[in-house]
Amino acid sequence: MTKNEMIYEGKAKKMWSTKECEDYLIVEFKDSLTAFNGEKKSEEVGKGALNNKISTEIFHLLEKNYIKTALVEMIDDNHQLVKKVDIIPLEVIARNIATGSLTKRLGIKDGTVLPFTLVEFCYKDDDLGDPILNDEHALILKAVKDQSELDYLKAEIRKINEILKDFFAKKGLKLVDFKIEFGKDKDGNILLADEISPDSCRFWDMETNEKLDKDRFRQGLGGVKVAYEEVLKRILS
Ligand code: 5GP
Repeated sequence: MTKNEMIYEGKAKKMWSTKECEDYLIVEFKDSLTAFNGEKKSEEVGKGALNNKISTEIFHLLEKNYIKTALVEMIDDNHQLVKKVDIIPLEVIARNIATGSLTKRLGIKDGTVLPFTLVEFCYKDDDLGDPILNDEHALILKAVKDQSELDYLKAEIRKINEILKDFFAKKGLKLVDFKIEFGKDKDGNILLADEISPDSCRFWDMETNEKLDKDRFRQGLGGVKVAYEEVLKRILS
């Protein structure tokens, strides 16, 4: 498949239509790093390729576990072929350990293991700063068709969390929390879309709690690329 026209450019990715098939898109993973709704920006050469490889491996693992995804195949270091979907404008978040915005919002001590996996929705809207939503907000905003779709997203992220939590535990990593996105294909099927990478997940080393994800950039800890390389190395081990 070859790139036709760029139809979207986001903070971390570009999307292209293809010359051959209108049901497919090409995703290009950029080397840009952004945080705090784009207020902090940087470039890290090779970050796009690392996220592409990590996300492809994770999506393949999920497909093997009967999660339906929009990924067709990795094309090269920075590109994936994906099914065209209409993105549902919700960030679906699962949290196993309290950190980040949850600790700020509710005053829970950073690092507290939650008694059960917490699932949250945020509205994908940069102008509003991606606000947290409850089910009724999501329905009023028509982010989904009905409650059954919200229930499906919640059930799906819980399944994904169980698969990934076990997988990463075997690799010596705690899956602290992560954000995923879903889209609808032309037949109305809901597919896992976007990416799952250290940009969208928090991974802590099982022994040392060293952060191996985008918090290294957010918190100015340095060693971003080394951390992403370590995640890929452990996935492939
Ligand atoms: P928090 O709400 O604590 O900032 O983030 C919770 C989880 O969702 C973290 O793993 C974080 O990386 C991910 N996340 C939240 N918002 C975004 C976003 O806008 N983009 C990306 N890539 N990940 C996000």
